[in-house]
Amino acid sequence: MSKRDYYEVLGVNRNATEQELKSAYRKLALQYHPDRNPGNHEAEENFKEINEAYGVLSSAESRSRYDRFGHAGVGSSAASGAWAAPDFGGFEDILGDIFGDIFGGRSSRRNGPQRGADLRYDLEITLEQAAAGFKTQVTIPRLENCDTCNGSGAAPGTSPIVCNLCGGTGQVRFQQGFFSVSRTCHQCRGTGRTITNHCKTCHGQGRIEKEQQLEIKIPAGVDTGARLRLAGEGEAGANSGPAGDLYVVIHVKEHELFERQGNNLYVSVPVTFTQAALGAEIKVPTLDGEDTLTIPEGTQTGSIFRLKGKGIVSLQGHGRGDLFVVTTIVTPTRLTREQKRLLEEFAVIEEKLNQGTAWRFGNKVKDIFS
Ligand SMILES: [Zn+2]
Ligand SMILES: [Zn+2]
Repeated sequence: MSKRDYYEVLGVNRNATEQELKSAYRKLALQYHPDRNPGNHEAEENFKEINEAYGVLSSAESRSRYDRFGHAGVGSSAASGAWAAPDFGGFEDILGDIFGDIFGGRSSRRNGPQRGADLRYDLEITLEQAAAGFKTQVTIPRLENCDTCNGSGAAPGTSPIVCNLCGGTGQVRFQQGFFSVSRTCHQCRGTGRTITNHCKTCHGQGRIEKEQQLEIKIPAGVDTGARLRLAGEGEAGANSGPAGDLYVVIHVKEHELFERQGNNLYVSVPVTFTQAALGAEIKVPTLDGEDTLTIPEGTQTGSIFRLKGKGIVSLQGHGRGDLFVVTTIVTPTRLTREQKRLLEEFAVIEEKLNQGTAWRFGNKVKDIFS
């Protein structure tokens, strides 16, 4: 039997947190619990459906399988899971259907065309790829319409025949006192057609799991969490229903040099003690290569310089972020005798200039540590 999308069943979006799932489930479970809805078949069906959906989505492992493969990914456990609600049947079932139909039940809709589940594909890309945009091939396992039977489920050369129990209407009528009521035909499950020769490829399911190669075009400027929707590339619908959508979720890998904030980039660049003190032209890495930056004399560790327009292009198509260069002053570690002598001379001059101000520096240090 075809199934509704589990997120849709719980009324949450696909990024819902564990807590959101739990509270959505709790709310619905209270609403549809059989004890609160005695004899209400629709409530029972809803209760089973939400239990099944929550059973799959509450475990991170089965949720990720479902996100990637749809119902096919959790097929076997969905049928036999310990959390599956007891199957209600027999007389109660029939009664439930009758009342369900009187009160505008949904038993026929359940068996009509259904939209296929949406699928999710997680794609990891580099910062360079995110900045420039790129195309890639991905392989998506998904349920597709069976080619052998064109989705009908009937063996080639045969076709589904009109159900002899309901005459093709999918509904069987009953006389109940003054009422004439109808319920879903159990032989064809409301479709009005029965299959005598099942298609051997799909065993009468009409759909089959296949791996599909798709080309995905990533626009320049995407960031982690961006979702690309590929309409109709999800799971095929049951009973000739429309296909679901495929969502490609982008994850941008951390870069060894650049840190991204929105469309701006930050890069830390080492400068020598003399470059910082005297000012200099330094080389700065950019996403496309390198650039020259002039730093003024007296540059400190943590000084920030902006290279305009050297960031990431805006996904919305207007403008480009900037590249911020943060300087770090590197203290020299291996000095030649000559360098040492010059620095010692420098230190002597510095000491003279700083006399009388050293205590203030001392106070500042205390401030920092108190
Ligand atoms: Zn088939
Ligand atoms: Zn029938």
